[in-house]
Amino acid sequence: MGRQPNDFSVKSVKGQTGATPGPATVRRRLLAWYDRHRRDLPWRAAPGATADPYHVWLSEIMLQQTTVAAVQPYFRRFLQRWPTVTALAAADLDAVLTEWQGLGYYARARNLHACARRVSEAHDGRFPDTEDGLRDLPGIGRYTAAAIAAIAFDRPATVVDGNVERVVARLHRVREPLPGSKPRLYDLTATLNGDHRPGDLAQAMMDLGATVCTPRQPDCLICPLTGVCLGKAEAETLPVKAPKKARPVRYGVTFWAGRDDGAVLLRRRPEEGLLGGMMEFPGTPWVDADWDLGAAKPHAPVAAAWQALPGRVVHGFTHFRLELTVLTGTAGPEHEDGVWVRPRDFGRYALPTVMKKVARHVLGS
Ligand code: SF4
Repeated sequence: MGRQPNDFSVKSVKGQTGATPGPATVRRRLLAWYDRHRRDLPWRAAPGATADPYHVWLSEIMLQQTTVAAVQPYFRRFLQRWPTVTALAAADLDAVLTEWQGLGYYARARNLHACARRVSEAHDGRFPDTEDGLRDLPGIGRYTAAAIAAIAFDRPATVVDGNVERVVARLHRVREPLPGSKPRLYDLTATLNGDHRPGDLAQAMMDLGATVCTPRQPDCLICPLTGVCLGKAEAETLPVKAPKKARPVRYGVTFWAGRDDGAVLLRRRPEEGLLGGMMEFPGTPWVDADWDLGAAKPHAPVAAAWQALPGRVVHGFTHFRLELTVLTGTAGPEHEDGVWVRPRDFGRYALPTVMKKVARHVLGS
């Protein structure tokens, strides 16, 4: 096949001269590759079929910060329990949070529920079919709106996730480090937009990044872009990432208040903020300096002879590392602010991973 008029142009790339891959070539090669190698994912429509916007939206929210492999069982369970957005809107928030356990970032689950309600009540159960309309919904930012518009409604949209950033940085040999290079990578991705199968094109980019143009050892020999990729000789060094700042450490003290009948006190975290609305064992605020246990005890939910357990519970959040000291004590029967739950029933409550670690720390000790 002969070279098409806009397939290659000669352009300066950060002071170098080289052939810049043309969008028509990249689109054509990606779509041909996608038709043969697309991943079979439970939220994807069959080739040529129309995707269900509810499935696309649900998967995109779940996939934020989580892997495809981890999301699949959650996606199936959600669909089984709430087969439509209207059914999800009618669900109890606690049931949604409980089903979400293990996916982390509970604000997403709360927004998921709020979004389902909005779609159900304000849009008659149908997702808006434009990026602008989608961005008006809770929990839907630029990336997610673009992904749903492209995949569910086949609208041209610039869909840039981590996989796409990597492919585009290599394809165009962008050596400027992330995150500063994000606007440039976005603009370069946007040059690929076109009216022909935009949803498949977006998914082809994602799939290529996930299966061929992987972070380590990209398989350039089988890549459909190998003939036009400027960065393949240095692929493993791209995209360059600015050094990460060390995560700060925060400290807290958690109170495991047990009753004689084995029940333990749980309370709900405030609706706003980290792990909003989830259940927890009561504790101190999480602060920058380690706690003196004498200073921590006034935060105890009940009066008890508190004993510190040896060791600590350590949990990594995105922006900080948390170290929790756990104090155990036997409480009297009365306490208004919280619920008493036997450990075998913890699964009925939306306990975040860090609190499950606390439970394991106590029950395993
Ligand atoms: Fe990635 Fe290699 Fe393909 Fe370039 S040729 S896009 S580096 S897999």
